[in-house]
Amino acid sequence: MVEIEFLGGVRSVTGSKFLVRGERVEVLVECGQYQGLKELRRRNWEPFPIEPREIDAAVITHAHLDHCGLLPKLVREGFTGSIHCTADTARLSAIVLADAAKMQMEDAEYAARKGYSEHKVPLPLFDERDAQEAIEYLTPHPFHQRSEIAPGTFVTFHRAAHILGSSFVELEIEGRRIIFSGDLGRKNHPLLSDPDPLPHGKIDALLVESTYGDRSHRIPGDALRDVINRTVKRGGTVVIPAFAVDRTEVILHRLKELITMGAIPKVPIFVDSPMALASLDVYRAAFESDAVDIDLKIAVDGDPFDSEFYQAARSVEASKAIAQMESSSIIVSASGMAAGGRVLHHLRRLLPDPRNTVVLVGYQSIGTRGRTLADGASTLKLFGSVVDVRAEIAEVKEFSVHADSGEMITWLSTASEKPGHIFIVHGESDAGTHFQGLLSEGLGWSSTIPDRNRRYAI
Ligand SMILES: [Zn+2]
Repeated sequence: MVEIEFLGGVRSVTGSKFLVRGERVEVLVECGQYQGLKELRRRNWEPFPIEPREIDAAVITHAHLDHCGLLPKLVREGFTGSIHCTADTARLSAIVLADAAKMQMEDAEYAARKGYSEHKVPLPLFDERDAQEAIEYLTPHPFHQRSEIAPGTFVTFHRAAHILGSSFVELEIEGRRIIFSGDLGRKNHPLLSDPDPLPHGKIDALLVESTYGDRSHRIPGDALRDVINRTVKRGGTVVIPAFAVDRTEVILHRLKELITMGAIPKVPIFVDSPMALASLDVYRAAFESDAVDIDLKIAVDGDPFDSEFYQAARSVEASKAIAQMESSSIIVSASGMAAGGRVLHHLRRLLPDPRNTVVLVGYQSIGTRGRTLADGASTLKLFGSVVDVRAEIAEVKEFSVHADSGEMITWLSTASEKPGHIFIVHGESDAGTHFQGLLSEGLGWSSTIPDRNRRYAI
């Protein structure tokens, strides 16, 4: 018998963790951090309800923290197996995990200094040594190649078009075939090739994400152009909180297009995130080596991240120098939901001035500052003080790298037959329930929204 235990990523978009138990083999698929609401983040500190030592192998779909961010903790608690992923996921995860460890350690140190930790002696969730050890276990695989990861257990990575290296995973274990959608991207990703169709043949269980299960993206292609133009006209600065991995690359690519077309003025553009700059290098290398998931149409135009038109702020001094700019500029800085990172300093400075604009370009989880701004708050808490929000807040949806409900149904309909079980994961409750209805109407498929920490036989 094969069972799936849903350890996280159910009824929330973060914290994905799925344990697949066979008679002889245990495989953990995803090991993500919870982000956003405090009650969710607290779960990161709970001990794993499983014995990490007993897991034979781990698999991750892509390099976002909510999919790979607890790997160092897994290793710290005794996991010693391989962590399987694609080659670019391994490269990007190494950047993301090292940065996460640094943030954890800085936060713990700051809390200790300020004395506001909930723990007597504030501890990081994991440290740089744990992250380094997890990085050493990362085991890269090419796309579309079936590899044995434990006795009688095989994994194949298919293109998901969400970020560079992202995959949906086909896991074969003790005669059962399970598909994990990971985060599914869209057909119009400006840099990546389209998602692969589902593999042919019987699928015993399919876990599908539902981040945008209750939404359809309209593509207002000119929204970014318009918001930049009106901000520059009133002498303001545009700040774009952007996820370091992928979103920054997509935004830069779009800004370059807009400038080349003469659609926006040539104002200084700053990339202020060391992690974003490191991942830009991984993207650039992928272009140079014609990686399997790169859209080849893009590569013919030369370097899509031409560094001539933006300035990289690598050091803290360079980051601080941006604040001295008197004229209009565009600042792209992490983190994407303004949960932390250098973007907070820019927000503190720019939010009180109505000439400026904050452009939100990604999903904003409940409980993050990004969501608070999107919901129209008139003040925001930053570095322990209350900052007035007078700047324009604009949400630009054209950069979503998650499929919407219609795109998801289209992808699911590439299955050659109805899967044995369908589990809806990785979505807030309403999105999941709405998507369940759409699946039933659109494809006539019944599905389950699983409970956390419960096992389901497939
Ligand atoms: Zn993702």
